Amino acid sequence: MKELIIKYKEKGLKLTPQRLAILNYLDGNTSHPSAGDIYKHIKRVYPTVSFATVYNTLQVLHEKGEVMEITIDPQKKHYDPNTKAHHHIICTECNKIGDIFEDYSGAIRLPHHIAEEFKPVGNHINFYGICKKCQNLSRYVSKREKQKRRD
Ligand SMILES: [Zn+2]
Ligand SMILES: [Zn+2]
Repeated sequence: MKELIIKYKEKGLKLTPQRLAILNYLDGNTSHPSAGDIYKHIKRVYPTVSFATVYNTLQVLHEKGEVMEITIDPQKKHYDPNTKAHHHIICTECNKIGDIFEDYSGAIRLPHHIAEEFKPVGNHINFYGICKKCQNLSRYVSKREKQKRRD
């Protein structure tokens, strides 16, 4: 936590208690929260905090390269404090986002005309799937439906 404070002071970020709470919440957070999720959490501790403050802080952190914005959910942006290169998978049922720390760069071949124009510096793959919780849920629903048909 102390490290975090020094780091942000070095980057010229003003550290208000609310901002500190946001940083603290994001530090090591692997749940890929949306701005709304973060706002809900911070509001519990700082009831006077506004959504704009939370959103602006996230914008600044993103500009400074401290959080990654994930845009695979068409409903809203999610934030990831892990800025090391990694890929994501999103559940198409509940929008849960998982991390994938695999290096696929050896398997990716860019088309010739792209490789001629661009020098690749990174990649980010979005996978889509159905998480375990939602798989179990749909199994439960289909079982119930079968029962209904029998009645
Ligand atoms: Zn799910
Ligand atoms: Zn991630």
